[in-house]
This record gives sequence, C-alpha cells and structure tokens, in this order.
Amino acid sequence: MGHPGSNNIGSRLEVQQGDITQLQVDAIVNAANSSLLGGGGVDGAIHRAAGPRLKEYNRTLGGCDTGDARISPGFDLPARHVISTVGPVWKGGQQKEDELLKSCYKRSLEIAVQNHVRTIAFPCISTGIYGFPFTSASKIAVDTIYTFLRQNETIEKVILVAFSNEDFYSLKEIVSNQLKK
Ligand code: ADP
Repeated sequence: MGHPGSNNIGSRLEVQQGDITQLQVDAIVNAANSSLLGGGGVDGAIHRAAGPRLKEYNRTLGGCDTGDARISPGFDLPARHVISTVGPVWKGGQQKEDELLKSCYKRSLEIAVQNHVRTIAFPCISTGIYGFPFTSASKIAVDTIYTFLRQNETIEKVILVAFSNEDFYSLKEIVSNQLKK
C-alpha cells in the first residue's frame, strides 16, 4: 500500500465497529433528516450525546435538502464538528437513490475540507430507517470516499463506522475488494 501515485488511500480509509458518538475526530457525520432537528437511529444518538445546543444551533440552519450537508459545532461530543447530511429514503432504486447517496458523501467531504477537518467519521448513511440495501450503500460509500481521497490530500483519515458486527465484516470485505480495483 502507499505506492507512488496511489495517494496512500488504502491507509486513509479505516473501518471501525462501534458508536460514532464516542469518536474523538474533527467531525462526525450524522445521517439526519431534512429538518436537522433530530430523529431516530444514529441521529437520535448524536443529538443526545451533543446535548440540546445542537438542536438549537440547527434551527438557525433552516433545514437541508436530500443529498446535501450542513456543519455545526460538536457541543458536548468529543468530536469538534457534526456534519449533518440527509440521505435518500430507499424507494426501490429508481428515484435517484444511488446518486443522492453519493452526493451525501461528496458534499460532507467538501464541507469538511472547507472547515479544515482532517479526520472524519461516517455512519452507513440511509442503511437504517431509510432502508437502503446495506451492500450497495456501502459500495457507494467506499467508492465515493476513495474517489475523493484520490483528488484531495487534506483529509488524513476517514473512518467508516459499522454499528453491528455483521455490518463491520461486510464493510471490511467491500473495502478490501474496492481497493483491488
Ligand atoms: P438512516 O435514516 O439514514 O437510515 P439510521 O440512523 O436509521 O439512519 O441508520 C444509519 C446507520 O447508522 C445504520 O447502519 C445504523 O445501524 C447505524 N447506527 C445507528 N446508531 C449508530 C451509532 N450510534 N453509531 C454508528 N452507527 C449507528
């Protein structure tokens, strides 16, 4: 890994299992809904761990479209920032879900760079309540992150966080397969 020209991408994407709210990184990404005011799943966990100031702050942002992202301070989190992105709800695959999911990763990374973020952790956006099939969502995630890392040198580390053991092993496999391409 890390041969000239590869931009060292293999070592800059890491898969971890656990709770994203515990990570001490420059930014954690939230799989939010368009209100940015909190919800279930990882969104609920992030709002609980960040404390009520996150919701108060997000009220000033005026919502967010699907496929786009917004940044907030991390408040009580160990992470310095929260980047909230709104994933697509899975409606069978013909409603631009792939494109919108890709845009979530891309926009989150662009906003990260604009805010001097060097270490960033993502959950598997849209794969919970929003129902996106896990394997195809993970391939889009890994592919979009690698494409971005190839073109950008300021992000040092991207952590893809799997919540369950099963998700962790399937993400590990997708990452190693994608790297061979
Ligand atoms: P969405 O509405 O985008 O589907 P969910 O929160 O329902 O969002 O699920 C997104 C992913 O986040 C799922 O893979 C779920 O298992 C995972 N997840 C839930 N809680 C946490 C957490 N605390 N840390 C990391 N990942 C989490």
